Amino acid sequence: MRINIKPLRDGSLTRKEFEFTTLISDTEPSVIEPVTISGEIVNRADVLLLSMTIEGVRNLACDRCAKEFSRLVSVPFEACVVDHLDNEDEEDDFIVCDGDELDIEELAVSMFILGFDSKNLCSEDCKGLCQKCGANLNEQACSCKEESIDPRLEILAQLLDE
Ligand SMILES: [Zn+2]
Ligand SMILES: [Zn+2]
Repeated sequence: MRINIKPLRDGSLTRKEFEFTTLISDTEPSVIEPVTISGEIVNRADVLLLSMTIEGVRNLACDRCAKEFSRLVSVPFEACVVDHLDNEDEEDDFIVCDGDELDIEELAVSMFILGFDSKNLCSEDCKGLCQKCGANLNEQACSCKEESIDPRLEILAQLLDE
């Protein structure tokens, strides 16, 4: 979706709200359902401020126990829309749009994906899988012993047993 920002730039419009959905499963396979992009562009003292929220459900597998779960991810984004940049150091807070149309969809999709957590856990205190037998320790306690001390001490213990 593209938004014509010309009337906002020349001041004939002071606010443009938008809300639409888009499917991004081709780009990001964890997002099967459409994501919702909603926000506004406001002309405040001749500065165009874009603020929006990108929201969608991700279907994930836990990094520790591999259980599948889904999570609603909501990524807020704010920036000034400018036609050029004077100082490239500040480009994080600025979106450059030198034409009349701003491709809000492309921007929102990339910001949404950038906002993802690097770690995906089914819960903060997921116990994960047993290193030895592979049991899911969230669901059952397995009978494996705690990781043995030192293999050399184990041999010594066996010798003493005999
Ligand atoms: Zn887990
Ligand atoms: Zn085990």
